[in-house]
Amino acid sequence: MPIDATEPYDDQNIFAKILRDEIPSRRVYEDAYAIAFHDIAPVAPTHILVIPRGAYVSWDDFSARASDVEIAGFVRAVGTVARAAGLVVPGYRLLANAGPHGGQEVPHLHVHLFAGQPLGPMLAGAPAA
Ligand code: AMP
Repeated sequence: MPIDATEPYDDQNIFAKILRDEIPSRRVYEDAYAIAFHDIAPVAPTHILVIPRGAYVSWDDFSARASDVEIAGFVRAVGTVARAAGLVVPGYRLLANAGPHGGQEVPHLHVHLFAGQPLGPMLAGAPAA
């Protein structure tokens, strides 16, 4: 069920529990600002989620409230994960869903990293370029 990305942060959301190691995840990276782990239901051969450690609901919330250091740390972590996974040369897609129209389901900011095959049109149902 897509969330309202303007709602207050819920510290019982599934990614908050992953951050606290209350539930398992297949982590591929962590630093002071972000962690990355494999999506539990991958839709591409490589499907990694990168999330900030801070309590932010969405891209909108993060971009409005996070410090410059947190924003820089998170953006650098996304790049580091993509490079470490060897995705730069074949290429990859970054996606952050926000709010009902974006289809965001987990109310902790996350960026999807998709890769491993040609990823097709940018949106489902869009005509091929
Ligand atoms: P979104 O629709 O952008 O909010 O995407 C949420 C993503 O989180 C989906 O791709 C889910 O498959 C993924 N997901 C949900 N629960 C878990 C979990 N426990 N571990 C890893 N990924 C998860």
